Order: sequence, then C-alpha cells, then structure tokens
Amino acid sequence: MSEKIWLSSPHMGPNERRFVEEAFDTNWIAPLGPHVNGFEADLQSYVGVGQAAALSSGTAALHLGLILLGVKEGDYVICQSMTFSASANPIVYQGAIPVFVDSEFDTWNMCPAALEDAIKAGINGTLTNKNGDKLPARKPKAIIPVHLYGMPAKMDAITAIGDKYNIPILEDAAEALGSHINGKRCGAFGQLGVLSFNGNKIITTSGGGALLSNDESIIEKARFLATQARDQAPHYQHSHIGYNYRMSNVLAGIGRGQMQVLDERVASRRSNYEQYRSFFAAIDGVNGIDEPNGYFSNRWLSTFTIDPNKTKGITREDVRLALEKENIEARPLWKPMHMQPVFENAPYFGGTVAEELFENGLCFPSGSNLNEADFKRIFTVLEQIFSH
Ligand SMILES: *Cc1c(COP(=O)(O)O)cnc(C)c1O
Repeated sequence: MSEKIWLSSPHMGPNERRFVEEAFDTNWIAPLGPHVNGFEADLQSYVGVGQAAALSSGTAALHLGLILLGVKEGDYVICQSMTFSASANPIVYQGAIPVFVDSEFDTWNMCPAALEDAIKAGINGTLTNKNGDKLPARKPKAIIPVHLYGMPAKMDAITAIGDKYNIPILEDAAEALGSHINGKRCGAFGQLGVLSFNGNKIITTSGGGALLSNDESIIEKARFLATQARDQAPHYQHSHIGYNYRMSNVLAGIGRGQMQVLDERVASRRSNYEQYRSFFAAIDGVNGIDEPNGYFSNRWLSTFTIDPNKTKGITREDVRLALEKENIEARPLWKPMHMQPVFENAPYFGGTVAEELFENGLCFPSGSNLNEADFKRIFTVLEQIFSH
C-alpha cells in the first residue's frame, strides 16, 4: 500500500524545534513565559488587533468569548449552521440556546438575510424550537459567523446587521488565519475573534487557540479567567469561577516558529487549490468558489462541489471512496449543525444551501507539505473516475 496522503497534516518549519529547546533550556515549561508573550505579540501584529490571548484551544477561546460577552443561561446565540461543532458547543456550555442560520452560495458562510430573520424572531418572540414550542422574546446576545475553509464570510453585511441591532460578533476565524478582505485580516472584524492552532489547521501548536480583540480590558479579563481567576493576593483567593485554558510556553514556542512560515503555508495552500481548479476546469459539474472582489482566502482546504446531474451520476461519495481505495484521505464538507442529532431541537433560519453543500461537497488533500508525486497519485485517481 502506498503511503497515506492526509487531508491536512502538520508542517513544521526550520525553527520550531529551536524555540522548544529554548523553553527547555530556560526551564519555562509552564502555561506562561516568554514564548507565550512572543507568540501573542506575533499574532497581534500579523492579524492587526490590539490584543491576543494564547489559549489551550480554539474551543476554549470561543467559550471564554461567550463568557466575556455576558452570555448566560437561556440567552440566544446565533451561529452559522454550516461549521465544525466546536463553533456551537460552547453556547451549550453556557446553558444558552443556539439559533442556527443557513449559508449563502458565494462564500458558503453565514447568510446575512437569514441572520436578520433570526434576530427579528428573537426580538419579536416568534422564535420556536423544532418541537413547535414558543421561546420567550429576547434579543440574541451574540452572533458567531465562521470563515469556512479560509473563505471570508460577508463581514460588511454581517457587521452592519450586528451594529444595527447592537449585538456583538464573536468571529470564528479558526480556519482563516492569513485570509483577509481588502487587507483587513480575518479575526479582526468582530468585537472578539477566535483562532485555532489544532494539528490540522494552517499552522499548528499541536493544540492551541487564541482570543483576539482591540479591547485591551476584555483580553486582560480573558487571561485572568484562563488562569483559574486568581485574585491579587499572596494566598489563593477567588471571586470568579475560573478555567484552565492558557497555552503552555512549550507549545507557544512551536507557534512562534510557525508564524515565521505562515505566509509560505498560505501560498502553498493557494497553489494546491489552483492545481485542483485547473484540473476540474475541464470537468462539467465540479465547482469551487472564486474569491469575491477584494476577498483573499488562505484556501485552508481545497473544497469542491460535485453535482451528479452534470457528472453522469458520479457523486462526491464515489470520488471519496475511489481516493480512499488508494489510501488518499478526502472528506465531505462539515455536516450542518441543524442536521446534527445533538442540536435536533434548535431553531433554524434559512433554506437548503448548507444542506446542498453538505450533500455534494468534498474536501481534497490540502496540506502545505503535499509534493508533486502526491498530486500525481491524486490526479491519477480523479482522471480514472471522471473519464468513465
Ligand atoms: C478547528 C475549529 C474550531 C476549534 O478549534 P480547536 O482548537 O480544535 O478547539 C472551531 N471552529 C472551527 C470552524 C474550526 O475549524
């Protein structure tokens, strides 16, 4: 069997090991230290935000973000349905109620029209869950848009709606480090932004995340809550419930090395996408999405929809299985949250865009460390299946 080609695997640069060794040599093996500070400074200047808190995961960053926005039991939080479950789970950690909204076809992200419908229903008291129970009238507490696969969401429209109703935006940029709209980086649009450095993301610390904001006091508070909420005192004194969510200094060392190669990683991922796009240009019914004017995607994953009505019946599952047979990993797009058993009863606004994308969409191998031989294997399988 040939070696496995992964969907998206870690890709270290020349200096990560040196930073980690430095942490060992100086005995900074703790959830604070010079690498944590350095990594935070790197993130702040790269994304263009005032403050960044390095945390143990993107999920932890989303959870702290909701806490800092005052989300409590019974509150509504509007979340893009088409996403990874980690965007929505922290809503439930807070005892709040997720209200899911559909995507639009241009970016595959939050549909602004469906967002506004959801807000109005919350305010007017016409929100119902799927059982038909009426939910109390309440203005939603937060909006969570996501930049799926690196493609920026329609942030102009989404932030305008947030401003109109005075609802803060917790921007899930876990997949979009390096993406921007007219030079403004993903992660810098919301009142709070979230990044992830999980093993499959565009850069990784093996596990980690960050919470970003221009509001210094809010990030100070995030750092406080993330280190068990210890009050200023010689003994252990607590007036808040705390969390153990800080990033370790060892892992932040990996992050500092990864930041040095981030722009190269973005270039490689974009070049992967271009290779697939040229290949599929000759094949009816297989389509990616172009960047809208002014948009720049890091193309974290190369994703395409496969319409069996135009491919003589070939489905995304046929393609996935053909690749799997050759030990090549491909995956369907995220299954929308409103279709997930665990969120079965949550309110949902919109049509069937997310459902159609899930039905027909496939993520192809997208690592920045794929080589020419890997692509040859991938395209051999694709040629075979699409020539029949
Ligand atoms: C990866 C990811 C997260 C969670 O990040 P972790 O660091 O794995 O906790 C959140 N949202 C989206 C969209 C993601 O892809």
